[in-house]
This record gives sequence, structure tokens and C-alpha cells, in this order.
Amino acid sequence: MSRPAFIEENRSLASFTSWLVGGPADYFCLPSNEKEIQQAWSWALQKQIPVIFLGGGTNVLISDKGVEGLVIGLKNFSGVSGESVVEQDGKKILRFAALAGTSKMELLKIFLKHKLAPALFLAGLPGDVGGGVVMNAGVAEALSPREFGEIVHSIEVVKDPVAWQPQVFADDEVQWTYRHSRGWQPGLVTRVHFSWPYEVDADVLVKVREANRVRFSKQPLDKPSCGSVFVNPVGHKAAQLIDRCGLKGFQIGDAQVSLKHANFIVNLGQARAAEISQVIEHVKRTVQDKEAVELQTEVVRLGRW
Ligand SMILES: Cc1cc2nc3c(=O)[nH]c(=O)nc-3n(C[C@H](O)[C@H](O)[C@H](O)COP(=O)(O)OP(=O)(O)OC[C@H]3O[C@@H](n4cnc5c(N)ncnc54)[C@H](O)[C@@H]3O)c2cc1C
Repeated sequence: MSRPAFIEENRSLASFTSWLVGGPADYFCLPSNEKEIQQAWSWALQKQIPVIFLGGGTNVLISDKGVEGLVIGLKNFSGVSGESVVEQDGKKILRFAALAGTSKMELLKIFLKHKLAPALFLAGLPGDVGGGVVMNAGVAEALSPREFGEIVHSIEVVKDPVAWQPQVFADDEVQWTYRHSRGWQPGLVTRVHFSWPYEVDADVLVKVREANRVRFSKQPLDKPSCGSVFVNPVGHKAAQLIDRCGLKGFQIGDAQVSLKHANFIVNLGQARAAEISQVIEHVKRTVQDKEAVELQTEVVRLGRW
């Protein structure tokens, strides 16, 4: 099987990540439909090279040395279908499905249109639907809902590109934990089905605007980052621990612990992934030494480290 024409060789991935760092993928493609994903993935399987999926790239740190194998970018594999309000046990429910590369912004628009509560937590979340499932993306605030797992009805996962028989996992078959989902891997999340009670909140837009105002005031959203780098250890807030260690502003090259939010590491312009990685290690060591707490990264490292 020859390489499909839409697969590029040696393609820089920096512009496909929110940190704007990272070297090239050996092979890269941006398929827009199942057939292209199937072709690309099957080709890699036959060539016996690794396959890595990339959503919005808002939670990954890609090595400067690049990524071995084929990276399949999903952002063009997007679209919403089946939007409907159905009756179940005498209650109205909003249902729809979205392909993995659909941006969370599109979900936000749908919930806003219907004036439903999930709009509130989605307003702060970048990236795509597939990445949202993988990371069980959510917010720390006491909202309902506050995590992806709460709005998912089921997910479709393809495990074998040749057979292409999506396996359906109902929401209660997936283990939704803090910034992770388990029980469906390995595979590609292709489509996500959403469902939420149709309980209209007339003020939802006002609340979303206020949440955005607060977020802009607290987070360095004017600089490239991946959001929170570390998960909150049980009983602690990672940002408070880092702040207490005096690490705000700590910098290696152009990678800096944000002055605005200590759990963000920002790219001041020309940061390299290695510098971000060194800042991460320094923060972990310092918090361990001074606060006796082990920080774990939320961000996923990809590539040749
Ligand atoms: C400014 C900013 C603010 C943020 N705030 C928050 C926040 O408040 N809460 C929060 O939870 N997160 C936050 N994040 C992190 C990030 O947006 C989320 O984790 C998001 O859900 C990641 O989605 P993505 O599409 O970008 O995933 P990616 O970063 O592209 O991928 C994440 C992982 O999922 C895998 N993956 C992606 N798509 C698929 C798929 N379809 N099938 C199988 N594997 C796949 C990738 O290989 C990778 O391992 C923030 C990020 C930024 C930049």
C-alpha cells in the first residue's frame, strides 16, 4: 500500500499546539472524514509505525525532537448531527452527536442556543470533543455539570482501522476520573453522543459572560499555554503550592511560570519544548522540597524525549 497523497512527511507540529512549540511529525495528516482516517491509519499499521491522535493540541507538550510515526490531526474531522429534543420518562432531553474534531466552542454554542447549564463549564474549555473525553475536561468551580463525563451519553471508539467497526461505550461503561477517562482505550474516539435535561436557564448567557470575565482576569489568556500544567493534588491547589514556593515568574529561556496564574507556564515568544519541560521539572522539584507534595502533570508529553 503506497502512502496516501494527503499524508505529509516531516511536518512541524508547533502550529497545531496551543503552546506553539514542538518539532515535526515523521508523517502528518489532517483527514476530514472516516475514509481518510481509515486510509492513513491502515497505511501506518502496514508500515508498522506508531499512530498518535491530536485534537486541538491544547493539552500536549510535543518534543522539539519531533514525533515518531504518523500523527493524525483531527480538527477537520468535525460536525454536529442529530440535534433533537426527545421525551424520556416524561422529561425533555437535548440530544446530539459530534465528531471527535468538533471544537468545544461548537458545543458551547448549542447549549447556549438552548439556554442549558452545560454552556457554563464549556465556556472555559478550549480544544476538541475527543480531547475533552480523553481528559474528562472540566472546571474546578462548583458547577453542575462541571466535567465532560456528565454530559456524555455514549462514545464511539474505533480500535481497528481496517475493520472500522466503532464500539459504543455508554457513559457508565467509561470510568470518568479527575482529568482522565478510562475503560475504552486503546483506540480512537470518533464520535461522542451528548445528552442533557432540557431545563432552561434564562440567565445562562449572562452567567457565561461573567465566567469569561473572571477567567480573563485570572488566567494569562493572552499568551500561548496549555492551561493548567499540574493536576490539583488531593487536598491542595497546585497553583497555591507553586505560588507559595515563590515560583511565579521563574523562567528558562522563554518558558515562564505565569505571573498571573502559577499553574500556567507561558511561552513568552520563542520558548522551546525542552525549556518548558525544564520549568516543569524545576517546579516539581521545588514543590516537593518545600511543600512535601508531589505534583503530577495534567499535560500529555508526546514525541521523542
Ligand atoms: C488556555 C487554556 C485553558 C484551559 N483550561 C482548561 C480547563 O479549565 N479545564 C480542563 O480540563 N482543561 C483545560 N485546558 C486543557 C485542554 O484544553 C483540555 O484538556 C482539552 O480537553 C484538551 O483537548 P484537545 O482536543 O486540545 O486535546 P489534545 O491536547 O489534542 O490531546 C490530549 C490527549 O488526548 C488524545 N486525543 C485527542 N483526541 C483524541 C481522540 N479523538 N481519540 C483518542 N485520543 C485522542 C491525544 O493523543 C492526547 O493524548 C486548557 C487549555 C488551555 C490552552
